[in-house]
Amino acid sequence: MNALDIIAKKRDGLALSEEEIEFFVHGLMDGEIPDYQAAAWLMAIYLRDMNTEETKHLTYAMAHSGRTLDVERIAPLAVDKHSTGGVGDKTTLVVAPLVVSAGLAVAKISGRGLGFTGGTLDKLESFPGFTSDLSAARFLENLAQHRIVVAGQTPDLVPADGKLYALRDVTATVGSYPLIASSIMSKKLAVGAKVIVLDVKVGKGAFMKTDDEALELARIMIDLAKSLDKNAAGVISDMNQPLGRAVGNALEVKEAIDTLKGRGPADFASHCLTVASQMLLLTGKAQSEEEARSKLEGLLNSGEALGQLEVLVRAQEGDPAPIANQALLPQAPVARTVVSPEEGYISQLDALAVGLTATDLGAGRKRKGDPVDHAVGIVLHRKIGDHVKRGEELCTIHARSSEDAERAEASLLEAYAWEKHPIEPPPLVHRIVH
Ligand code: URA
Repeated sequence: MNALDIIAKKRDGLALSEEEIEFFVHGLMDGEIPDYQAAAWLMAIYLRDMNTEETKHLTYAMAHSGRTLDVERIAPLAVDKHSTGGVGDKTTLVVAPLVVSAGLAVAKISGRGLGFTGGTLDKLESFPGFTSDLSAARFLENLAQHRIVVAGQTPDLVPADGKLYALRDVTATVGSYPLIASSIMSKKLAVGAKVIVLDVKVGKGAFMKTDDEALELARIMIDLAKSLDKNAAGVISDMNQPLGRAVGNALEVKEAIDTLKGRGPADFASHCLTVASQMLLLTGKAQSEEEARSKLEGLLNSGEALGQLEVLVRAQEGDPAPIANQALLPQAPVARTVVSPEEGYISQLDALAVGLTATDLGAGRKRKGDPVDHAVGIVLHRKIGDHVKRGEELCTIHARSSEDAERAEASLLEAYAWEKHPIEPPPLVHRIVH
């Protein structure tokens, strides 16, 4: 067996065997297969797809590229969630502490920004000192002690995903069903939580552009979860416009803190309640969505959920001071307000354009391993359906320099469209599937 034959087989549209997939993943990990062959293999998979069996074998091979944990032994009520990637998606920062305050435990491997989408780890690192680099032993210790862990993949935990994820990011091979499904589900399998909520984004700022595509991805992942004896739900949620108002790492942390204080934007807060409610339902902590939401709202209003964010940040060596004083989060030197050039109802606020602009400001990566600028990003003051007059504020750009801010303004204005007649905002949740 050799890498070249396996690449050629996939290039020609043939299904790979379990042995071939394992051979490739092992070769990648022990350095026998170089990045350029892995990149060619990824492109072949992107173009030729994988069937259910191949996707399952890839998921297994990736999950077993490092240690696999048995978190259930330590925390029987451990839950996990994962988003397929969006713009302004800071859901984990709210949902993880929220469900821990409801009596569950969160054991989660998150990702960094991928393409134009943000990543939870980049956001959490806005807290000075925060580390997501936990050994398997430390992961379990933190879970036992604090019931909340949000770590990154490491040489110990799903190292194959670390390698493939970074390569996909720079080879235009992100938006592929088997690659997204195996990337996400290998992390779930390696950690071992029994209950998983998959937040499958759909729309302009998501990898899946149509409801049918999102549903297909959700089904692939739920079926994988079931075949691994897990209980999973898929929330197919809108990503035509960014989620909430903040896009950019520290700006999103600020919005998550506000939401945990019960003062977050209504769309984002509602989305968090939907995802968290599914976790309560799947673990039997609530019998109906109404019961779950009212329990969770109580935990937001009482400050208990916010307290769990502090526990998480402290447990992973971060300084939680910004929770009480948000001015301690990284701040960009330039803030530029963009005003509306037209009067009307906003009919489009293209999440992809906003995500690309935020990446260009430095909030995301253009090349593998680039650092991110935690301070920069965009705060949206108006969203789809809102009425604006000419000259009224649309958004504020937080940038490193005035030149960056000017460039961002030009591209952001392209993201908007206006209509004379009232416009309904897109629904937040398109569908929930089990
Ligand atoms: N999140 C992941 O972990 N992997 C993907 O491929 C997309 C989103």
